[in-house]
Amino acid sequence: EEGEEHYVDALRRFWGPFAKDLEQAEVQMRDVKREERPTDLVCEKCGQPMVIKWGRRGEFLACRGYPECKNTKNFRRADDGTIRPVEPETTGEMCEQCGRPMQVRFGRYGKFLGCSGYPECKNMQPLHKPVPTGVRCLLGCGEGELMERRSRRGKLFYSCSRYPACQFVAWDRPLPEACPRCGTGFVTEKLTKRYGTVRRCVKEGCGWQEQIDTGDGGDYAPLPERRAAAQVRGRGRAGGREAAAARRHSPRRATSS
Ligand SMILES: [Zn+2]
Ligand SMILES: [Zn+2]
Ligand SMILES: [Zn+2]
Ligand SMILES: [Zn+2]
Repeated sequence: EEGEEHYVDALRRFWGPFAKDLEQAEVQMRDVKREERPTDLVCEKCGQPMVIKWGRRGEFLACRGYPECKNTKNFRRADDGTIRPVEPETTGEMCEQCGRPMQVRFGRYGKFLGCSGYPECKNMQPLHKPVPTGVRCLLGCGEGELMERRSRRGKLFYSCSRYPACQFVAWDRPLPEACPRCGTGFVTEKLTKRYGTVRRCVKEGCGWQEQIDTGDGGDYAPLPERRAAAQVRGRGRAGGREAAAARRHSPRRATSS
């Protein structure tokens, strides 16, 4: 609606002398937007006809029974002008609250899964359900499980099943193998173009890492000394790099933090 007003303002500036005509055009435009155009389609939820309405994102199909029935759909116009509703995308997942299929919906924060029984059932979930990794949240709360999640940009990350109570996050896939240096019960694994498969301990100050020979015959660069994790700890302390190196060679100190 805001955009619409700006558009009218812009037109007004440009067509100043014809302001009267414009005002009329504005009124007509509003009327067009209020208009509901009938279709042959029938609402499958309540049996009343579907009508074409205008919204922020343009035209859409809505049940004439609104507001009692809130069924809406997007549609496409076929070449011959027929209105073809775009059926919502499903993922094969069923609503754990009412058993009806879940549908992909668009919300303010992007896509999500919503129950097709809406509005009676208001169950919604993130589009990508967190996937358990079988690795305990040993560097966070110690109780939860690390879950694979997908950020809105599609990047995978691993956070605690007790999120938001526990805010632990790992950026690489956790494996249930103890760190050979500090004994923490899991390490992370990452596949990089440059160094091949690399396993790391994410315990602050540990710094253990290893290049894994997966036998793929890749010609990988040797792994450089790991600094990032140590630098976080070394910040504000004397001799960041040397201190970090010292810590790396002193597993006792690393585990005691
Ligand atoms: Zn309806
Ligand atoms: Zn439901
Ligand atoms: Zn946790
Ligand atoms: Zn470690």
